[in-house]
Amino acid sequence: MGVLNEWARKCFEYAIRRGKTRIGVNHEELVRGIGEEFVELCMADRYIKSKHVGWLTEEQEEMVDLMICCMTELWNQGVDVEKALNDKILLNKKRAERCRKETL
Ligand SMILES: [Mg+2]
Repeated sequence: MGVLNEWARKCFEYAIRRGKTRIGVNHEELVRGIGEEFVELCMADRYIKSKHVGWLTEEQEEMVDLMICCMTELWNQGVDVEKALNDKILLNKKRAERCRKETL
């Protein structure tokens, strides 16, 4: 198991313990959880230091929370997070190469 999947497993484990998710969460619950973090990101300040992780800003901390939320729910659905991210990055690479060719 890669490092990213190990982190996703931990995110899921801690979210379960904290009552932030449950096994087999439905679409509405998933969207509500991610939406709550998105609202926190909207309200976060770009220049104020996070109260929890002092070397991050509030905005950066909330972006990390969104990553944790997404990793949690991907793991909850049995997704290989590392492969999914890698496949999407490769797809974006191909798209970027196409954009480059179109602009030449
Ligand atoms: Mg948050």
